[in-house]
Amino acid sequence: MIVDIIGAGIGGLTTAIALEQKGIKTRIFEQTEQIRPVGAGIILANNAMQVYEKLGLRKIIEQNGNPISSMNITKSNLKPLTKIDLSYFEQKHKTKNIAIHRGTLQQILIKELKSTPINLNHKLTSIAENTNGYYLKFDNGEQIQSSTVLGADGLNSIVRQHLFPNNSIRNTNQICWRGITEYKLPIKFRNELNEAWGKTERFGFVQIAKNKVYWYALKSFKKSKNEFSINDLEHYFSMYNSVIKEVLKTTKKEQINTAEISDLKPTNIWYKENVCLIGDSAHATTPNMGQGACQAIEDAFVLSECIDKYGITKAFSEYQKLRLPKAHQIVNASWLLGKVAHLKNPILIGLRNQMLRLTPSSVNRKQNEQIFQLAEI
Ligand SMILES: Cc1cc2nc3c(=O)[nH]c(=O)nc-3n(C[C@H](O)[C@H](O)[C@H](O)COP(=O)(O)OP(=O)(O)OC[C@H]3O[C@@H](n4cnc5c(N)ncnc54)[C@H](O)[C@@H]3O)c2cc1C
Repeated sequence: MIVDIIGAGIGGLTTAIALEQKGIKTRIFEQTEQIRPVGAGIILANNAMQVYEKLGLRKIIEQNGNPISSMNITKSNLKPLTKIDLSYFEQKHKTKNIAIHRGTLQQILIKELKSTPINLNHKLTSIAENTNGYYLKFDNGEQIQSSTVLGADGLNSIVRQHLFPNNSIRNTNQICWRGITEYKLPIKFRNELNEAWGKTERFGFVQIAKNKVYWYALKSFKKSKNEFSINDLEHYFSMYNSVIKEVLKTTKKEQINTAEISDLKPTNIWYKENVCLIGDSAHATTPNMGQGACQAIEDAFVLSECIDKYGITKAFSEYQKLRLPKAHQIVNASWLLGKVAHLKNPILIGLRNQMLRLTPSSVNRKQNEQIFQLAEI
């Protein structure tokens, strides 16, 4: 059996590594000519790092990233509203939360693949069922017959659109800018993720390497993201703490990535016969909880264990049973958090901030306890 994976994102690559380690042959088909990293960082939370520990990648990821021991929501002046102390989970699971450059992570994952070919320049254009499985067509003219297909092709998945058509992408009306700058944060911020909430906008930043800071900024728009210009970015955050202004000032404008934030409305069917969706193609979420890639990484672990334990015929239904409730819980909670973070009304903002301040740390811990717990197979 060969498992064909569409997409060489974090989900596709991690799944290929996990399957290879179980002795299952895989091939990857990726649309781009070159695997180019988005100029951004990523936070691999404790659940993702537990998976990478199982795959033998924890140490190398830790060596190339920066540990994060607390996640804070603050006011625009960086006065804390709520703080999630991650040291409890570090001790419990013996893994840290790691902030890392996306390109560095991709390189680590690609290097780890021993026998899986990554077929670049293969954009899947159609997938159709036939008596032998699935017939795949690519935009370079190549066509292949496949017995087993994993759709790891992201939010706009072609596999999903062709075989699981009843789903919808939801726009949040939020624009997101991401960048990396050569910068060393003041020492007290070096091992923290800070996200400052203002009025209809917010700004997050984290040290990802000795001299590199990754930041992201989001702002609500009414009709179109064109209401805002990258040239005015510093102006939008001119009332924020001077560290944030410095981070923005030192970033090269041409390297800032701009995107609209969307997710996939939760959908209850992720598999059909021998084709299955993983990562964003199954459950794309807004980035508000920093869990999108972490959930794709959990998929890789659960799916490879299920295939190993049950064989393909039963694996996909077991995978869906184990993964769908948690993934949907994150999609829904993240969607709500995005709305709360961008409130406009000053009274509601005051109430929200008061609630954040008053939420006992035991409640925050309980929520994260569920997120960081891996499924048992
Ligand atoms: C602003 C922002 C910040 C984020 N921060 C975090 C974070 O800190 N932590 C976290 O865990 N998550 C974060 N996420 C979410 C995370 O980036 C995604 O959930 C994750 O990348 C999904 O991985 P994936 O492999 O499923 O999909 P993708 O990363 O979308 O990869 C899909 C791959 O498939 C390829 N592809 C697509 N279509 C085709 C086709 N037709 N044929 C062949 N190949 C195809 C693409 O080129 C790509 O390589 C963030 C997201 C955003 C937008």
